[in-house]
Amino acid sequence: MKGFGMLAVNQPGWMEKEKPVAGPMDAIVKPIALAPCSSDTHALHGGIGPKKNLILGHEAIGEIVEVGDMVTRFKPGDKVVVPCTTPDWMQPTVQGEYNAHDSGLTASFKFLGSKDGVMAEFFHVNQADANLVMLPEGMKPEAALMVVDMMSTGFHGVELADVQFGDTVVVIGIGPVGLMAVAGAKLRGAGRIMVVGTRPNCVKIAREYGATDVISYKEGDIVQQVMALCPKGVDRAIIAGGNQETFAQAVTMVKPGGVVANVNFFDPTEVLAMPAYIWGLGMANKDIRGGFCPGGALRIEKMLNIVKYGRVDTTKLITHTFHGFDKIEEAFMLMDQKPADLIKPVVFID
Ligand code: NDP
Ligand code: ZN
Repeated sequence: MKGFGMLAVNQPGWMEKEKPVAGPMDAIVKPIALAPCSSDTHALHGGIGPKKNLILGHEAIGEIVEVGDMVTRFKPGDKVVVPCTTPDWMQPTVQGEYNAHDSGLTASFKFLGSKDGVMAEFFHVNQADANLVMLPEGMKPEAALMVVDMMSTGFHGVELADVQFGDTVVVIGIGPVGLMAVAGAKLRGAGRIMVVGTRPNCVKIAREYGATDVISYKEGDIVQQVMALCPKGVDRAIIAGGNQETFAQAVTMVKPGGVVANVNFFDPTEVLAMPAYIWGLGMANKDIRGGFCPGGALRIEKMLNIVKYGRVDTTKLITHTFHGFDKIEEAFMLMDQKPADLIKPVVFID
């Protein structure tokens, strides 16, 4: 079968591979709609996961073509939503609060992390019954597609930040992940929602999702700008973009008792350092949390309910659409280049 991914670090391209085989609990799925992600481009440039001949992509809606003997909830022909994180549910570690780390750090992220991704004619899903969700009747595939990683990750930022009614929240970075964090913070009852970002269409959608104040990191120090608006500091800061400096900035702008929640990917070479006074010499009661997108059927079913009942319109994230398997390359390269008007591209395999 054909797939698109990384031939080697910094070498994107098409490749031929054997069609994957389903184990007794697994499924083989063909994509109906898929979306490239910043994490795929990070992988191409040397992030996590295998570094050669790897099919990329981890955001897909698909149709089941084959299931293992033990699969009871799905059959060939079913249209399914595929979480980007598909834990091995036999590992006790996933029975705790965070399911993204089954056999080790972020090890539940199978696509890219330890096997081929979804930008292929067929892809493999482990433990189908526990990981897949039926595409809700009447839901547009692209609306569900924005749930599997963007909503689950952005909302995880909100969960980690533990946003409460009336809180003042800063969301640093308003790419698709940060935008979902804005929508999630509003759903959780935040009062003021400040956002940091500059791309005009992201700023527009951030406002539509609930942002009350917009700050540009290109127009001076973001800590000063936040403190000018909220001199005592904010209750929660969610990091969904930026660089190693952003980390200390977020800790600085949070008030004692507040929380910094990170879902941004930091490069392995980056150092997350801060002067001790920022963290109250260790006594500020400022919680610092960071986490990876949780997955599994139950979570994604709940996220889909948010879309189904009109709480959040995830399709606002989609700025570019393509039709046809061969268009995967164009969509992926667009994600890699990130032109200013891009939020998320979607490829329909029709
Ligand atoms: P984008 O690149 O689309 O967005 C990044 C945002 O950060 C933009 O709004 C950008 O502003 C802003 N930004 C850039 N530089 C700075 C700076 N110096 N200070 C403050 N803000 C800045 O990213 P995505 O939304 O696609 O993804 C966000 C991050 O989340 C990525 O690192 C991605 O790998 C990670 N991720 C993590 C997951 C997890 O489970 N933890 C899962 C999925 C993604 P501008 O408007 O100017 O471009
Ligand atoms: Zn992703």
